[in-house]
Formats: sequence, C-alpha cells, structure tokens
Amino acid sequence: MKPGSGVTAQRRLSEWLPSLAGTPGDTAVFVLQGKEPGPTVFVAGGTHNMEMAGVIAAAILVERAVVQRGRLIVVPRANASGASWRDPKDLGPGQYTFDTASAKRTFAVGTRLTHPSHQGEPDPSSYLHPDSREKLPGFEMRNLNRAHPGKADGNLTQRMAYALTRLIASEGATVAFDLHEAGPSSRLAWLIIANPKNIEQAANAALDLGDRGIDMRIEASSSTFRGLSHREWGDATKAAAYLIETPNPYQVSSYDGDHLLDPRHEAEFPLWMRVGGHLEAVMAILHVHNTDVVPTARFEAVGVPSLAELKARGIGAFLN
Ligand SMILES: [Zn+2]
Repeated sequence: MKPGSGVTAQRRLSEWLPSLAGTPGDTAVFVLQGKEPGPTVFVAGGTHNMEMAGVIAAAILVERAVVQRGRLIVVPRANASGASWRDPKDLGPGQYTFDTASAKRTFAVGTRLTHPSHQGEPDPSSYLHPDSREKLPGFEMRNLNRAHPGKADGNLTQRMAYALTRLIASEGATVAFDLHEAGPSSRLAWLIIANPKNIEQAANAALDLGDRGIDMRIEASSSTFRGLSHREWGDATKAAAYLIETPNPYQVSSYDGDHLLDPRHEAEFPLWMRVGGHLEAVMAILHVHNTDVVPTARFEAVGVPSLAELKARGIGAFLN
C-alpha cells in the first residue's frame, strides 16, 4: 500500500493481540482520522486473499479516501498468511498490475486459507465452530471467516480473528465491513450479508444501489452457521456488521462457490466493476447509517471513486 494524505496513523494488528507480533498473521492497519470527531468505520479486505476486488477496494480507501468527519480503520489483508501464498488449485492470474500516475503497482493474489505451516497445529479431521451446527472439512479451521470471534490463545487463524474482533470492539467501530468475492454463478455473488440487527439498513442501501443500476441482494446472517464476520462481529461488538460479495470469474472451486469454469465470465466481470461494486455498497450503507442521526454522528469521507469513475478511468487512476 502507498498510503494517501488521508492516512493519519499506521498500526499493526498485533496491537490488539501482542502474541501476533512477528508471526505471519500480523498485518498492517491504516487509520484515517477526520478533522471533525464522529463515528468509527472498520473495513477489512483480504480475509480471503484470492478475492482481489475486496483487497483492491480496501487499498483504494487507504490511498485515496480523506475522512472529514469520524474515523476509518482499514485492514487490506486481514489474513496476512493467506496473502503470502497461492494455492496451486486456484485459477486466474497470480498478480494484478496497474499503471498509476507515478508508478506500476503490483498486487499479489493470495489464497483463501492460512498456510498450513503457519497455523501452529495440523488440521483436524473435521471442524465444528463452538457455536455452530455446521460440521466443516478440517481445512476450514484455517479459514479466517469461520474463526470469528476468535480465541486469544488459539491457533494462528483463531488469533487473527480474535485481534480483529478486539480491534472493532475496543476502537468502538459502529459499522464494520468484510469485503469478499464468490463465483459468478454462486448465490453469494452481488450479495450483502448483514447481521440481523442491521438487516434493515442493508435493505435500504440495496434499494439505493438498485436505483443507481447496481443490483445487490441482501441476506441475514444464519443463526446456525457460525464463525463468520457478519455474524460474530455484529453479535460480539456494538458494530453493525456487513459482508459484501462481488462475482470473481476465477473463483469456481472454493468450498462455498460453484464448480464449473465458464470462460464467458472472465470478460463479463472485470475487476474495475467488482471493486466499484464494493466501494459503492460501502458508501451506500454508510449513507443509510448517516440518516436519522444528528449531524455530528455522521461519517463523512471524500475521494472514494464511484463505479462510473472506475469504469471511465480504470483502477490505476485511483492508486498512488
Ligand atoms: Zn470470501
């Protein structure tokens, strides 16, 4: 990341769980403090590191957003271990390169899970989240988005989850986003999943997006499928919690994705469109949270490109 003028502090995730320091699970945390006091908004990309629209959307926030009221905290690579390697089974390019005004910027594509050698323990034969009724394959123990709200003395994935939940709680975030992608024919693509306590705000945001030609469906967190960010962050903290999914043409074999590579998808879902979908959804949801509150409780930021601007100028125009 090349932080923009909006970044007022750079921290590390290990500040919220010191045992992460020096491990492959520690990661950069960017703070954008506005001039006027207001609510804190949290954004994570790279929970799954082959879902690059979420990583790039988070990077654009770090490099271009300027907060005017409130505070934005961004973690572009929430699972730093997953960002450090590539599963040979993953499809698509190993990196994305963008021409910016000043440089050629390269973003490595990672993968969905913590590296087995980083986890600190072998995968179990199956994984059952303590609060869940869903029994998952053992490798899902290394899936950050099945580990929330985490465990301070757990394996690496559980500790990353713990630190993220601690960050959201202790920094007093009022809204938290986790940016993902799914296979284009998955029911998850173009979806906002909201904790039940903030499903109404998700519905209003989806209506606003639809009015502008961006069709996103909504869904509430399951009560029986646990460990997911939107469920656990919303339950464990005061934050309204959202997970946003855009369609990734290369994501055709993941556990919760689909299983057939349709080559038409590659041209149909360009990265600028998916990044724009994330940023538009984030801003639409924040706009809904700004309604019916006193002006001093609003979050206000500028510099976040629209879908139309990304289409017209390309991703590189919004990176440093
Ligand atoms: Zn994902």
